[in-house]
Amino acid sequence: MKRNKNFENNLILYLVATPIGNLNEMNQRAIDIIKNADIIACEDTRVASKLLSLFNIHKKNFISMELHNEKERAYQIIEHIKSGKNVIYMSDAGYPAISDPGQILVKLCLDNDICVSSVSGPCALINALSSSGLDTNHFLFYGFLKSKQSSRLKELEELKNIPYTIIFYESIHRILKTINDIYDVFGNRDMVIARELTKINEEYIFGSTYELKDIDETTLKGEMVLIVEGFKNIEKEEISDEKIISEINDYLNKNMSKKDAVKYIADKYKINKKEIYKIVNKINN
Ligand code: SAM
Repeated sequence: MKRNKNFENNLILYLVATPIGNLNEMNQRAIDIIKNADIIACEDTRVASKLLSLFNIHKKNFISMELHNEKERAYQIIEHIKSGKNVIYMSDAGYPAISDPGQILVKLCLDNDICVSSVSGPCALINALSSSGLDTNHFLFYGFLKSKQSSRLKELEELKNIPYTIIFYESIHRILKTINDIYDVFGNRDMVIARELTKINEEYIFGSTYELKDIDETTLKGEMVLIVEGFKNIEKEEISDEKIISEINDYLNKNMSKKDAVKYIADKYKINKKEIYKIVNKINN
């Protein structure tokens, strides 16, 4: 599990959402963050300059990052952030990473221990998703699950084979029960908890459903969005016995019980637990 307290970390990329039509919808926080930036990474520098000049911001340090050169430019942007520069990324209109460049950049930042924070739309789900590092190409917003557990489990059963990122809203009172139910029905998947977005305690918690089901509830205050990886149909043939053994050994070395390690791998690769026991026993004998 990894917890990014966004405003306690110096290394941060701001994803600045821009108006989708009416430029007067640009908000003060976004303007302040742009004013404070050393480098403005954006899709089209002409579009960005036009928007900035409307707010009397005159910057020269632009990096253009579009879909066709995103990977190469993302590495450059990361180097600037690591060297201590304030860097933002803005798309021509709307949110970065939502049918626009940004997904690769976000993932690379998170892999390089750089926090990512979305500024600053009024909708929690898009803020959470765009900075989550999970697949933004296709997603399903489910909102709140039912509060009665039997109904919630039924809803989750209906969602479990959906191959798209799934986004839930949840209240502080049910958060742990909901994560446990998600784990029980969906099995082990990547998950992100996006908490207290745009507030001083903004935090992104990255982990698997297996890890997050045991998170200390007392550390989860405030409002939260849950983002869960979609169903992946991984063919058994893609995973060698050696890989399974090596991963099981890793978990055993981290003091996970054999039973849990087998369940974890079974969930992760959608393989029957009996088959995994067979592989483990074959090697052990
Ligand atoms: N209309 C709002 C929107 O567009 O996001 C959602 C309102 S809904 C009644 C409240 C839920 O939204 C919360 O329980 C939480 O799941 C999510 N939420 C709202 N503000 C949030 C924030 N700052 N950080 C994380 N989640 C938030």
